[in-house]
Amino acid sequence: MSRVGTTERPLRVAVVGAGPAGFYAAAAFLEQTEVAIEVDMLDRLPTPYGLVRGGVAPDRPKMKSVTRLYEKSAEHPNFSFFGNVELGRDVSVGDLLVCYDQVLYAIGNEADRRMGIPGEHLTGCTPAAVFVGWYNGHPDYRSARVDLSCRRVAVVGNGNVALDVARILARSPEELRVTDIAEHALSALCDSRVEEIVVLGRRGPLQASFTPAELRELTELRAARVQISAEELALDETSRAQHDRARPRDPRRQNVELLTKIARSTPPRARRTIRLRFLVSPLELLGDERGSVRAIRLEHNRLVEQRDGSLGAVGTGQVEDLDAGWVLVSIGRRGRSTPGLPFDEQLGVVANIDGRVVDLETRAIRPNQYCAGWARSGPRGLIATSKVASAEVVARMLADAARGSVMEADRGGRAALESLLRDKGVRYVTFEDWKVIDRVEIQRGLARGAPRSKLVAIPEMLDLVEMKRRGW
Ligand code: NAP
Repeated sequence: MSRVGTTERPLRVAVVGAGPAGFYAAAAFLEQTEVAIEVDMLDRLPTPYGLVRGGVAPDRPKMKSVTRLYEKSAEHPNFSFFGNVELGRDVSVGDLLVCYDQVLYAIGNEADRRMGIPGEHLTGCTPAAVFVGWYNGHPDYRSARVDLSCRRVAVVGNGNVALDVARILARSPEELRVTDIAEHALSALCDSRVEEIVVLGRRGPLQASFTPAELRELTELRAARVQISAEELALDETSRAQHDRARPRDPRRQNVELLTKIARSTPPRARRTIRLRFLVSPLELLGDERGSVRAIRLEHNRLVEQRDGSLGAVGTGQVEDLDAGWVLVSIGRRGRSTPGLPFDEQLGVVANIDGRVVDLETRAIRPNQYCAGWARSGPRGLIATSKVASAEVVARMLADAARGSVMEADRGGRAALESLLRDKGVRYVTFEDWKVIDRVEIQRGLARGAPRSKLVAIPEMLDLVEMKRRGW
């Protein structure tokens, strides 16, 4: 009988990715009592929390408070954090499979979806994720080119990220200063000349994928008003029938009701306007002589029922040019291929069946490799949604181990990974090291009344950790 899972020989699991999906998986492992377990979490950044730190908007402190739960897992004696360790650069899939019994990839979706239209290469066409990373102080995007000197910004897409970026562009300096927004972004946004943000949905108001709470918040901004044209808000026959059939608490129905209320109201003049447009698709970005965006060409759409019963946007041939000096593309994310991991190009996720990694061609299960979160399913759901999904994958991992999928071979786990990283000269960051960064950020935030002011450069973080280790 296998000893794996006993106190003498715990089940050794590596979780790659310290975002919500990774932390919910860690919690599920650490809370169960059937199997003795060691969980080691790796992240390519020196800081934990993935999208909660680098994606959730700075004006969402409540949503960010979920990190307190993650911290509880991180402080569990059977948990270790290895920050600044990148899969594919510092360690390979093969390395992890030598060190650990099971590996869970919770590596999120790090690539942007493209519109595939002419002019997308022009200066001033930016994936929303770049802007989000820039204002959140993500090291990858701290030097992104963000030019807020134009009067109008167009945001393509009708999801919560589109509303996040519109809201941050519309907020006043006073509102932003007390958030954990990165210093460089705060200073640029304080000087912003943007007056109008136009959010472009290709389908109608009932098909928008943003949620009512996020929509309502736009109406509560201090320095901005929301405008919607009654004409674009009118529902076609099928949408009207779907709306009337929907339960009152259905978010799409709530969206339509709120949008109607906004369209009927006359908000007072404000420094900025957020205009919500529907039934328009980008056809092309038009550039000026310097190769910068000057306008976005839109085609008006109508909705047509698809084979699966959903309503799709079809162009009517009516075209309009909307002047805009900056275009933010917020049409969703996809995964990025990682060396050694089978990647489903079509779906943009790690190839998997129910969270078990599979071979791309044969669909045969690759033993002891799993994926969770957006790496498994693509970018959908709210942070809390990933809790159930991660727990489900953990249950499968434990069931597979109980069925004997894990060999009793000597897997060095934590000690083996530490020695491998040392041999390769990787400066990894422990959870205690992160707490040093955390304390410094909180301290720096005090000056402006913010919960924290983030360090945004990896060398700066590593130097701070080094200084602390040497007792300086
Ligand atoms: P999303 O909800 O999938 O929205 C993507 C939007 O892009 C949809 O409106 C989609 O329209 C549109 N789109 C796709 N391709 C397009 C194209 N070629 N041209 C024009 N429009 C196009 O994605 P997201 O906004 O990136 O959000 C990702 C996930 O994170 C969601 O689950 C979201 O709820 C979550 N999130 C939550 C919060 C929050 O809770 N506050 C904040 C941010 C993100 P169609 O519907 O017509 O395809």
